[in-house]
Amino acid sequence: MSASTRIPPIALPFVSDRAKKTLDLVEEFVEKDCIPADAVYSAQLGEGEKRWQTVPPVMEELKLKAKKLGLWNMFLSKTHFKEGAGFSNLEYGLMAELLGKSKVASEATNNAAPDTGNMEVFAKYGNEAQKKEWLVPLLEGKIRSAFLMTEPEVASSDATNIEMEIRREGNEYVLNGSKWWSSGAGDPRCKIYLVMGKSDPNNRDTYRQQSVVLVPADTPGVTIHRMLHVYGYDDAPHGHGHISFKNVRVPISNMVLGEGRGFEIIQGRLGPGRIHHAMRTIGAAEKAIEWLIARVNDERKKTFGKPLSAHGVILEWIAKSRIEVDAARLIVLNAAIKIDQGDAKAALKEIAQAKVLAPQAALAIIDRAVQAYGAAGVCQDTPLAYTWAGIRTLRIADGPDEVHLQQLGRRENNSRKEAVAAKLKWQQAESDRLLIASGFKAKSHL
Ligand SMILES: Cc1cc2nc3c(=O)[nH]c(=O)nc-3n(C[C@H](O)[C@H](O)[C@H](O)COP(=O)(O)OP(=O)(O)OC[C@H]3O[C@@H](n4cnc5c(N)ncnc54)[C@H](O)[C@@H]3O)c2cc1C
Repeated sequence: MSASTRIPPIALPFVSDRAKKTLDLVEEFVEKDCIPADAVYSAQLGEGEKRWQTVPPVMEELKLKAKKLGLWNMFLSKTHFKEGAGFSNLEYGLMAELLGKSKVASEATNNAAPDTGNMEVFAKYGNEAQKKEWLVPLLEGKIRSAFLMTEPEVASSDATNIEMEIRREGNEYVLNGSKWWSSGAGDPRCKIYLVMGKSDPNNRDTYRQQSVVLVPADTPGVTIHRMLHVYGYDDAPHGHGHISFKNVRVPISNMVLGEGRGFEIIQGRLGPGRIHHAMRTIGAAEKAIEWLIARVNDERKKTFGKPLSAHGVILEWIAKSRIEVDAARLIVLNAAIKIDQGDAKAALKEIAQAKVLAPQAALAIIDRAVQAYGAAGVCQDTPLAYTWAGIRTLRIADGPDEVHLQQLGRRENNSRKEAVAAKLKWQQAESDRLLIASGFKAKSHL
C-alpha cells in the first residue's frame, strides 16, 4: 500500500492529486534512497574534529536527486507563502511524516529545522534586501542558519527573561550576552544567526522589549565555546552551540521587522515549525513499530520456545502502539488543517495539542521497541536509541510540555467556565422541576 492510499479518510478531502503523487514519490525517496544512506552519512562524518568541518558528500548527492524529483521546500505552505513548492500544511504534514523516518531526508529535501522556521521568518518578516541576501541561498540549500533565543543564565521557557543586550550606537547595533542550544551552529555551512535579545529593557510592555537581529556567523566578537550533547550524541555536523557575543556590531539594517517586534516574530515562527516536528515524530514512531514487528517475529530469537510475537503481551504492545500513533497523527493533521483554514494564531490550541501529544506517544512506542530488542535496543545497532534521544528533547525544545499544557488548560478553563456552570445549573433545576412535576422529590444538592 503506497502512502497516498494510507491517508486517513478524515484528511483525504483536503489532499490534491498532485500532493498524492508527490507523497508517493517522497515515500520511495525516503525508503529507497534516504534510509539506506543514513548509515553512509554517519560513516562519512567519521570521528573527532573532522565531524564539524565537513559535510558528508552523500548529502549533496541526495539533494541533487531530490531536486530532480521536485521534492524541495515542501514545507512553505501555499496558503501563506509564494516561495514554496505549492502544498498546504496538511499535505506537507503527510510528507513530513515520511521524512521523519530518516536522519538525512529532511535536509536532503531542504525541509530541515531550524532553516525551515528561519526561512518562514525571512519570507514573512524580512525586507527585500534581507530576503535577497539570506532567504534566496537558504531556499536553494546553499547555506544553513540558526535561531538563537535560549540563554544559559535564565529560565528561557519564559522568553521575557531573555537578557542578551542589543544596544543601538549610531548606525549599528551592539550585542552582548550568551546563548546556548543554538541548533545548527556547528555546521560549517551555517552563515547566519537570527538572534533574539532585548533592545528596550525598560519598556513598560514586557512583550515589546525584545527584537530579532541578523548576525552573520563570522562577525567579530562571536565565539562558539562548545557543542552540547544530547544524551551523549553530538548531532554533528549540525550541533547545538554555546555561543558568546562580546561587543558584536551589525548595521541597523540587520533588524528584522522593527525594534520591539521580537515576540511577534517568535510567535509567528514557532506555529508551523512546532507542527513540523510533530509530523516528523509520527514517522519516527511508525519506524519504531516496523523495527518492533521485525524483532518480535525473528525466528532466530525465540524465548521459551516461541517467537516474541507468540507471547500475548507483545501483541498488546503492537496494538497499543498502533492506537497511539494513529490517534497522534489525527491530532497533528487536524492542527495542520486548522492552520490552512486560518493561520497559526487561530490554531494555537490544536498546535499545542500536537506539540505535546506526538512526542509523548512516540516515546512510549519507541520504548516498547527498545524493550523488544533487549540490550540491542539501547546500542547503536538499531536506530531506536538515537531516535528516542532526539524525540525526548521535543518535550523541552520549543517550550516544555508544562508551558503548553498550562496555556492549553488556562484557555480551555477560561473560555468555558461560565457557560459550563450556567448550563449545569439550568439542567439540575430542570431535572428538579421534572421530578417534582412527576411526584418525586427534587434531587440536586450542589
Ligand atoms: C535538542 C534541543 C535543541 C534546541 N534548539 C534550540 C534552538 O535552536 N534555539 C534556541 O533558542 N533554543 C533551542 N533549544 C532550547 C529550548 O527551546 C529550551 O530548552 C526550552 O525553551 C526550555 O528552556 P530552558 O531550557 O531554559 O528551561 P527552563 O525555562 O529553565 O525550564 C525548566 C523546566 O521547568 C519546567 N517549567 C517551566 N515553566 C513551567 C511552568 N509554567 N509550569 C510548570 N513547569 C514549568 C519545565 O519542566 C521545564 O523543562 C533547544 C533545546 C534542545 C534540548
